Amino acid sequence: MPRLARQRRICGAVFMVHYGMEKFADEAVIEVSSGSGGNGCVAFRREKYVPRGGPSGGDGGRGGDVVFTIRRNLRTLSHLRYRRVFRAENGRDGEGGGRCGKNGGPVIIPLPPGALIRDAETGTLIRDFSGAGEDFVFLKGGNGGWGNIHFKSAVNQAPRKALPGKSGRTALLTVELQIMADIGLVGFPNAGKSSLLDRFTNARPKIAPYPFTTKIPNLGVLTAGAARDEAGGRDIILADIPGLIEGASAGAGLGIRFLKHISRTAALAFLIDLSGDNYLEAFDVLLGELEAFSPALPKKKRLLLGTKTDLSETRGRLAELAAKYPAERVRGISVFSGEGIMELAEEILRLTEAAEKEAPLTASPVSSLP
Ligand code: GDP
Ligand code: MG
Repeated sequence: MPRLARQRRICGAVFMVHYGMEKFADEAVIEVSSGSGGNGCVAFRREKYVPRGGPSGGDGGRGGDVVFTIRRNLRTLSHLRYRRVFRAENGRDGEGGGRCGKNGGPVIIPLPPGALIRDAETGTLIRDFSGAGEDFVFLKGGNGGWGNIHFKSAVNQAPRKALPGKSGRTALLTVELQIMADIGLVGFPNAGKSSLLDRFTNARPKIAPYPFTTKIPNLGVLTAGAARDEAGGRDIILADIPGLIEGASAGAGLGIRFLKHISRTAALAFLIDLSGDNYLEAFDVLLGELEAFSPALPKKKRLLLGTKTDLSETRGRLAELAAKYPAERVRGISVFSGEGIMELAEEILRLTEAAEKEAPLTASPVSSLP
């Protein structure tokens, strides 16, 4: 299966867009360390005509801090799978001539809005980033040690004493995130929802398994944009809403649980099996179900996807569907032939961005599925 990537021109700049899906990640364990302070220096002035120069050893530099910062383009913790250990720089040792050592640089850990950090051993909550996200200095670097300049006294004109820098600190943290889906995939059983999620998954080279826990199944991440950490990188969360059947809104079947879940999505994609008998009625039934559950649902931005266009019996049916719903965005896709998949990824990106403009996503948690 070809990797779905292609050039895209946005605001005059060309960059690569990769579409891929990876397993949903909502928990990661990371190790963070602040830097140690540099050691103080023992040194003496050596100048011509000054036979016994005084102490001149400078202080060590401060160790770097561990800092968390919120990045709005991140929507998952999957970036923490590539890097689990975060260390700030150590301060440099002091030097002769009264020079202080250089301070160590901080380590900056990007997190999506809504993330929580906990002590991995005790589970104690350290910080909840669901409010306005400002940088959070979690561990300060160690102070640098004093150089012997500080130890000169009346009785000791040539102190050989300096202090070592304070060590940095290390912590093991659990990072948690409750995901809010951007796009809900809605359809009758067999419409092709899971296959569509799979198709996006296969578009990306598989990444070695990492011990993330997946609390909410049936979620996939479509990554659009260059690198996820750069501006323009954007994770789009798709939720496969299985089991939506007639009567779900009245509590029949499993549908009700999933209806609850999609009430938080920004937009919906309705999948309609064009090879099925009810391809012309399915959308009305689905919409009716959603409306009965919550009048807000049919107001969400949406796409109608006629699926399985590779099958010969579906020929002409997409056009029928489009004719019946002239006000809807109707698209054909085939997971098997790949028809319409690339266009769909782009459309989903546009739809998500449009929905976001109207109602900016808040980081409020979504109730997890059982
Ligand atoms: P879900 O119940 O909505 O999740 O549907 P699935 O993704 O499990 O798909 C139901 C059946 O339709 C499976 O047998 C799939 O192999 C098949 N299917 C899904 N997408 C396509 C497609 O694009 N073309 C064809 N011919 N079959 C498909
Ligand atoms: Mg399924």
